[in-house]
Amino acid sequence: MPGGTPVIEADAVVVGAGPAGAAFALNLAPSRRVLLVDRRDAPAVRIGESLAPAARRLLADMGLWEDFLAQGHAPCHGGRSVWGGPEPVEADGLRDPDGPGWHLDRARFEGWLRGVASARGAALLVPAQPRGVAREEDGWRLNLAYKGRLLPVRARLLVDAGGRASPLARGMGARRQTGDRLVCGWLHGRDAAGRQSGLTHIEADPDGWWYTAPLPGNRRVLAFHTDADLPAATDARDRGALMRRASERAFLSGILSGSGFAPEGEAGFCAAHSSALDPPAGEGWLAVGDAALGFDPLSSQGLFNALYTGLAAAEAADRHLAGDGTALADYRAGIASIRDAYRAHLRAWYGLERRWAERAFWSRRHGADMTAP
Ligand SMILES: Cc1cc2nc3c(=O)[nH]c(=O)nc-3n(C[C@H](O)[C@H](O)[C@H](O)COP(=O)(O)OP(=O)(O)OC[C@H]3O[C@@H](n4cnc5c(N)ncnc54)[C@H](O)[C@@H]3O)c2cc1C
Repeated sequence: MPGGTPVIEADAVVVGAGPAGAAFALNLAPSRRVLLVDRRDAPAVRIGESLAPAARRLLADMGLWEDFLAQGHAPCHGGRSVWGGPEPVEADGLRDPDGPGWHLDRARFEGWLRGVASARGAALLVPAQPRGVAREEDGWRLNLAYKGRLLPVRARLLVDAGGRASPLARGMGARRQTGDRLVCGWLHGRDAAGRQSGLTHIEADPDGWWYTAPLPGNRRVLAFHTDADLPAATDARDRGALMRRASERAFLSGILSGSGFAPEGEAGFCAAHSSALDPPAGEGWLAVGDAALGFDPLSSQGLFNALYTGLAAAEAADRHLAGDGTALADYRAGIASIRDAYRAHLRAWYGLERRWAERAFWSRRHGADMTAP
């Protein structure tokens, strides 16, 4: 511990200010001392923009619905999928009691959540990372590396909101279980035609699957998913190869040319597999969002889960800090039931596509040991 530097006291230190960490912080900060840290000083440009309609209820519960509407994200009126057969099937959102889903400007959404957490009293420290985490009898001691200094911190509870790598929990001996090798190659670009349908399009491919969705400001995302060890993964890393592959899919190519899609920049590439942290909470710590459960993007539930677990964990943390010895175990049980429901849905959805059952990507997902961890 550096001599002379005053120790920062916090009830909860949250590592990761993405959607889950910010949701946790903004819900706990009104009643507890919350320190929210992130290694990035601002949200990165990244993939993951479709917010499920049911998020409306969560945002309302958090007192954020009106403010969310004022952020100018684009409504998603439904989806069209070419999945399990050669013809597209449409599911419009008109019958959803929660109204439309959303195509987010992701960086704006994350920046807004961080801002709400600060406005509700959380201390936001960026760019900062934890170092030297050690257990004390009733809490934790750690340092935060911040602007070339080490800031000593004492905390009663630690929260891993660091995404798929679970950076804190792994150091505590929790293990990350993975169910498959799904990866994603993606492009952002402009819709030059300036006409947007408000629909997400999903289309199966012999070696994986695609989606494309309009984004606010006449922009669009195009994404291809396959397994990291298949030859198609090479295409997923390359802008030209992605566009060539997309042109072979009958309906996808029509949407891209109809919208005048013009990709910008190089292809992004990232892990997209199902994974789960075991356990997702322990003595004096818990994990939220992707740090607890990483979802296949086919589910389109990652952001919803980040907000939901952020809220549920804040409630559990408040009980834990008030001396309730069962709060973290209850939270763990809640994560286990989300994981079971997710597993069943994912199996059913992949099971609907049988046209390329002999291809590695699909046969792996039809087997008994299918995919979710
Ligand atoms: C290809 C793909 C497409 C997706 N599409 C969708 C979609 O359309 N809809 C949807 O709902 N979900 C989607 N998701 C999932 C969604 O993006 C995630 O579920 C969501 O980002 C989880 O939020 P989080 O806050 O848990 O983690 P993250 O968003 O990963 O945030 C983690 C934060 O922790 C910080 N951090 C990490 N390590 C440290 C450290 N050591 N110290 C300090 N800070 C650290 C990071 O900088 C980051 O800000 C998609 C995911 C993928 C891979």
